[in-house]
Amino acid sequence: MIRRASIVTNARISVRPKRLWRTAGLLLLLSLLPLVRAPDASASAAASPSGLEIVALGVRGGIVDGDLSAFLIHPSGDFRSLMCDAGTLGNGLLVATKRGNLGGRTPDQTLGSDIKAFLITHAHLDHVAGMLIAATDYPGKAVYALPSTNEVLGEDYLNWAAWPNFSDRGKAPRLGSLHLRDMAPGVATPVAGTAMTATAWPLEHGGVQSTAFLVQAGNSAVACLGDHGPDGASGGERGHQLWRALAPFVRSGQLRTIITEASYSDPRPESQLFGHMTPKYLIASLRDLAEEVGRPNALLGVTVIVSHVKYPVGGEAAYRKLILRQLGDGRDLGVRFIVPEQGDRWSSP
Ligand SMILES: [Zn+2]
Repeated sequence: MIRRASIVTNARISVRPKRLWRTAGLLLLLSLLPLVRAPDASASAAASPSGLEIVALGVRGGIVDGDLSAFLIHPSGDFRSLMCDAGTLGNGLLVATKRGNLGGRTPDQTLGSDIKAFLITHAHLDHVAGMLIAATDYPGKAVYALPSTNEVLGEDYLNWAAWPNFSDRGKAPRLGSLHLRDMAPGVATPVAGTAMTATAWPLEHGGVQSTAFLVQAGNSAVACLGDHGPDGASGGERGHQLWRALAPFVRSGQLRTIITEASYSDPRPESQLFGHMTPKYLIASLRDLAEEVGRPNALLGVTVIVSHVKYPVGGEAAYRKLILRQLGDGRDLGVRFIVPEQGDRWSSP
């Protein structure tokens, strides 16, 4: 919003008196646009060059409770951050600090002042535990989610039985540390306190509604997908609909990083997926995206961060190797597959 304000200021300097009223009307319209606009894939929409920084604070789909789905995202050179899921928070910050990947910030600075908001893909415990536990000491953050996810957060956790009600809705007294904000699918929403917007699309996750978020700042975008299964009998078409929506951003070069999941290795019967992906299904899904983008080498230069692997305890290294090897079947797509470790950091152009 700071960027938009500066554009408006510059425009006013060059305006001629006879156009003043028309310009005033246009400025009013511009000031309202962030509330209603769909995400914009045209490169000219960006106000300045940028990039997005991603830090993996938690990468697993189980079983080790200090390393569960959590990705810190902020524009390059601007520490005002959001979390895409927060299964693990405090421990992830300690690990990232140890590895020198928190950009010189302390865990307390990051948790206290840098993280302004959470984007929650779905309310499963392994995606929200870190957020709920940190709410005791780090108040004043927004929680963006589809209405069904916020509903579960309110009813099943923040109910004074499972956990105190740190939110600003539901059972009184409301402590108000977490401001729950319902998102409308497909509508770019400014993330309060940051220079980023987020757009949500629903995903199917074994009978639970999950979410994919597109996070945008300037010319850069990162997609962060929650748990989901393949399209088909149980999954419907939501994966395909997501790629239809995101294909223009890949085509324009804005979307260069996709965080997604492959919980299990292949082979695995469809009846045992429980709303998750394997490398085989992920590769098939990315082929669908490539088709939507609709040009040769459609995904060349795109990084796919493969999260939520359900490692057997103690067998992490071998299982990680196996997943990476199976992802090799998609090497013709031209994407760079990363199976991350906790504390990893990337810059997305
Ligand atoms: Zn889940």
